[in-house]
Amino acid sequence: MPSLLLSLQLKALLLHTFVLFLSSSFGAHPLPTNQSSSHYANLTTDYGRIIYNYPSEALQPKGPQDISQLLKSISSSPTRNNVTVAPRGAGHSTYGQAQALDGTVMDMRSLTPYIQIGEIQLVASENSTVYVDAGGGVLWIEVLNETLRHGLTPRSWTDYLYLTVGGTLSNAGISGQAYKYGPQIANVMELDVVTGKGDIVTCSEKENSELFYGALGGLGQFGIITRARIVLEPAPQRVKWARIPYDDFNQFAADEEQLIKLGDVNYLEGFISFKDNNSSDVYYTLEFAIYYNNEGDAQKTLDQVLSQSNSSRSMANITDVSYFDFLNRNQKIIEVATAEPTTNKTMAMVDATSRKTKTPMSRPRAEAIGNAESMRMEVRELVGGREGGMGAKQYLPYYKDQNAWKLHFGEKWGRFEELKSRFDPLNILAPGQRIFQRRPLES
Ligand SMILES: Cc1cc2nc3c(=O)[nH]c(=O)nc-3n(C[C@H](O)[C@H](O)[C@H](O)COP(=O)(O)OP(=O)(O)OC[C@H]3O[C@@H](n4cnc5c(N)ncnc54)[C@H](O)[C@@H]3O)c2cc1C
Repeated sequence: MPSLLLSLQLKALLLHTFVLFLSSSFGAHPLPTNQSSSHYANLTTDYGRIIYNYPSEALQPKGPQDISQLLKSISSSPTRNNVTVAPRGAGHSTYGQAQALDGTVMDMRSLTPYIQIGEIQLVASENSTVYVDAGGGVLWIEVLNETLRHGLTPRSWTDYLYLTVGGTLSNAGISGQAYKYGPQIANVMELDVVTGKGDIVTCSEKENSELFYGALGGLGQFGIITRARIVLEPAPQRVKWARIPYDDFNQFAADEEQLIKLGDVNYLEGFISFKDNNSSDVYYTLEFAIYYNNEGDAQKTLDQVLSQSNSSRSMANITDVSYFDFLNRNQKIIEVATAEPTTNKTMAMVDATSRKTKTPMSRPRAEAIGNAESMRMEVRELVGGREGGMGAKQYLPYYKDQNAWKLHFGEKWGRFEELKSRFDPLNILAPGQRIFQRRPLES
């Protein structure tokens, strides 16, 4: 491990130019100095380019032992009383969640890539479950490529696949398959986690279950995920992919509820989009997909779904694509949106996180943030919250202090705090979430 710790020193805030030097405390091996690297520059910010926190160190672990050694060293060293550690996956957080001001950013992409398929016999059953073991720093697109080589696939996805396994499992990992299989965190059989104390623990529903359920969706607070065992199923070859626009919310919601009830489609999402650049009028889109190996069966299901829809069939936009292209459908859209400021307000959420800024310290365009915020307000009003509706919690929440987090967790806050004091008692991990303040080592 020692050879992996790099110290980053920012020279007079020279934008994105770093000087890498030897870290004597960890005996790091010599590295090229005056290395200008966009890779290291990226460690100061994230996809949002809204928050810039400069770490004092970066670690490039090759395996769990490296992570453990660092965390054990920090937790036992009174001279490192302020040091925090942020694991950073693909850095696609938008509000600094994977950053560590004056702390250590741990580049999870540097872990030795690990993707292995296996099979397990279920106890007291003739059935077996096929799974993939994937390293915490592996991208979901890499998992897809490898599992497809074996005709297999995970069941639950995100809309965009250039995110890491550890990064999405620390949140939830949501896409249109979640209505059937739950989010990605509901499809995990086992994890290897390095706790804030530096312990390397294998956990599952049966073994060390508190850490297992804590780490899944735990916002990186209880440990660093270095391996996840994910359930697989046979991969389909092709997909009928449909999008239907609606002006009327009630018709849109009724159709979505009906599709959920029938459960015939393999993927189902609903979107709210702005009609044009200059108005706050919105329209709704129902998006669903039918996976298939036999086209006749898929067409029959599609016809049945469309015949029950409140919208006219002619409004439906239907595409036939390979399974891979369907899952990877957002790669191009996201690349274009991040390279060019979009004028289409349907992309407001993406626009708000645009990388297209020549002055990295500046905020993204105010109107883009405004549009995204007004969309959120609309959703909050629709679900009712305090007025007796079902209420809503923000996904990928960003709060500025612990009080807001207490409101977010509600009655679960006490449990969250308890798990934190067990697995990361000095509050070393994931400081960018702004939930806990680093505690000094008691002498
Ligand atoms: C363009 C875009 C599309 C997206 N699409 C979706 C989507 O369809 N569905 C969805 O659910 N989300 C989506 N997201 C949100 C995304 O899932 C989260 O931002 C996720 O955290 C990103 O993964 P990452 O690898 O970039 O994590 P990072 O941003 O690097 O890290 C996120 C958090 O997890 C912690 N962390 C990172 N790795 C680990 C680890 N191995 N163990 C423990 N903690 C860790 C970090 O410290 C940080 O607190 C999208 C984001 C973007 C920018």
